[in-house]
Parts: sequence; structure tokens; C-alpha cells
Amino acid sequence: MPTLRKHSRKRDAIIACIRETKAHPSAETVYSRLRAEFPKLSLGTVYRNIALLREEGEIVSVGFVGGEERFDGVTSDHPHFVCDCCGAVIDVELSGPPRGFEDEINRNYGFEVSHRKLIYFGKCTDCIEH
Ligand SMILES: [Zn+2]
Ligand SMILES: [Zn+2]
Repeated sequence: MPTLRKHSRKRDAIIACIRETKAHPSAETVYSRLRAEFPKLSLGTVYRNIALLREEGEIVSVGFVGGEERFDGVTSDHPHFVCDCCGAVIDVELSGPPRGFEDEINRNYGFEVSHRKLIYFGKCTDCIEH
């Protein structure tokens, strides 16, 4: 089972493909980018490797945009902007920690919030200009 080998070339190429771009690619995008290098690559193999990489904490899921799950090689907590028009997923930097409602949730429900996903939606600059 080549996909389960710890350091297969395909696995390394899939990680590199996700890490070297800020575009937060989907499995489909990774597949189409790597097909030239790995002609026998299947979309199923890409999905399986991505699932493993997520389990290992090498990559994280940003969420679904237009029906395709998008992935991030930057695993630290950071907010995203998602364009409703073109589906671009863009990292946004904020001047301070994003205002969360963790304390309120913990107090009102007795939960222990461990993390949050902050995603803003709207129109990116390219889509506003065109
Ligand atoms: Zn856009
Ligand atoms: Zn990101």
C-alpha cells in the first residue's frame, strides 16, 4: 500500500503542493497540479493522502467553498476571507487577537471551547474591480 508509506514521493509532493501556495487548494486542484509529474496519480489517492495528512496534523481543512473542501499548509490558528464570487480563500492578518465569544460560551453553556474557525465572506478586490 504505497499511500501508507511514511515518505512516499506522492505524499511529499501533495504536502509541498499545499504548503507552497497561499491559495488553499482543494483535492481536485492538487490532483490537477500533480498529474503532469505523476501520470498514474488518481483523485482517490490524493483524497486518501490528504485525509492522512490531516490526521497527522500536517495540514488543516479551511472548510467547504462551492462544494470543494479547501486545505491549508499553515496549521496555526488564523482567520480567512472567502470570496463569494470566485471562491478565493485568502489569509487575513488582524492587528490584535480576533474578538471571540469563548468566555461567554463557556460561562453560559459550561463548555470548554478549545478553538474557533474565523471566516469572513464577501467580495475580493479582483471581483470588486471586474
Ligand atoms: Zn473574488
Ligand atoms: Zn490560511
